[in-house]
Amino acid sequence: MEKKILVTKSSMPKKEEFFEEISDLWETHWLTNMGVKHQTLQNELKKYLGVKNIDLLTNGHMALELSMQALGLSGEVITTPFTFASTTHAIIRNRLTPVFCDVNANDFTIDVDKIEDLITDKTCAIIPVHVYGNICDIEKIQDIAKRHNLKVIYDAAHTFGVKYKGEGIGSFGDVSCFSFHATKVFNSIEGGAVCYIDEEFGKNIYELKNFGIHGPESVTAVGANAKMNEFCAAFGLCNLRHVDDDIEKRKIIYDRYKTHLKNIDGIKLNPVQKDVQPNYAYFPVIFDKAKFGANRDEIFSKLAENGIGARKYFYPITNSFECFKGIYNPADTPVALQLSLNVLTLPLYPDLELEDVDRICKIILSLKK
Ligand SMILES: *Cc1c(COP(=O)(O)O)cnc(C)c1O
Repeated sequence: MEKKILVTKSSMPKKEEFFEEISDLWETHWLTNMGVKHQTLQNELKKYLGVKNIDLLTNGHMALELSMQALGLSGEVITTPFTFASTTHAIIRNRLTPVFCDVNANDFTIDVDKIEDLITDKTCAIIPVHVYGNICDIEKIQDIAKRHNLKVIYDAAHTFGVKYKGEGIGSFGDVSCFSFHATKVFNSIEGGAVCYIDEEFGKNIYELKNFGIHGPESVTAVGANAKMNEFCAAFGLCNLRHVDDDIEKRKIIYDRYKTHLKNIDGIKLNPVQKDVQPNYAYFPVIFDKAKFGANRDEIFSKLAENGIGARKYFYPITNSFECFKGIYNPADTPVALQLSLNVLTLPLYPDLELEDVDRICKIILSLKK
């Protein structure tokens, strides 16, 4: 059997760089609770992402959960099921009702032409997801939100470093939530952040991530514990120095995949979006069995036989999870459902060898009829 390739491989700084970064923690003994590393990473990320305000959290999921709480949402929110479990779970754990809007088949983000039909007098927010590094139709969403007086929280877990018309993607909507999980373009082992406009929201988030503690003798909200610790922040500081190189390397691999897989009947690739500076986070491929001759699951298995781990991502879609059986219906979002059955994301990480990309594509194309 040839060497095993996983769908991703977490970026890590050199050992020496990390050891150097954490060494002063043995002097300060300050390990968490918004220490120096936390503060420094927050400042660096604010610059890197080009956002007005940012707050660091333990992970992307808590960024979503606490954002909804901090905005005081109640009632219905319009969202998509073509996402990771986190988005839908964060909504339901806030006792909000998700109303699932379908996605568009071109870039896999929320179909903005279908949002308004779903708005009722209970709707309080739109929670769209930027998918694979593709961004939602920000301008249309902004327009709809404004006309109907709705909040907008973007799940921006896939779009670290992406820019739209030169502006950081975290600057749009009321809030954008990033994930710095080990598998993402930028990681702090586990980590996340909220980017926001309103200072009042910022104060709320800051307290909610620390049990709702307002002052030494004052607890004013039912908060959680979602503070990024100093070791994760230090890891993030190191990785941030290399993230531009990582994205450069991702681009080379991305382009190599494209060379092999473009213009093949039965294969749809990720689109190039206008005015968007991408981050090459994922390489999704949509297979059309009628034209390609093999279906997604057959290709997945063939790759697995060869030691290659592709990922069915996102599959299943969230409105078809077992925990929602009888509550939501995936047939209500047919485009998302079809995508989830036909998509495969291929291995993509900065030091994936180009000859491995060639081998992966050869295996895929060997199934073309
Ligand atoms: C990774 C991810 C999350 C959750 O982030 P964590 O940091 O793992 O908690 C949420 N939404 C999407 C779309 C993601 O890919």
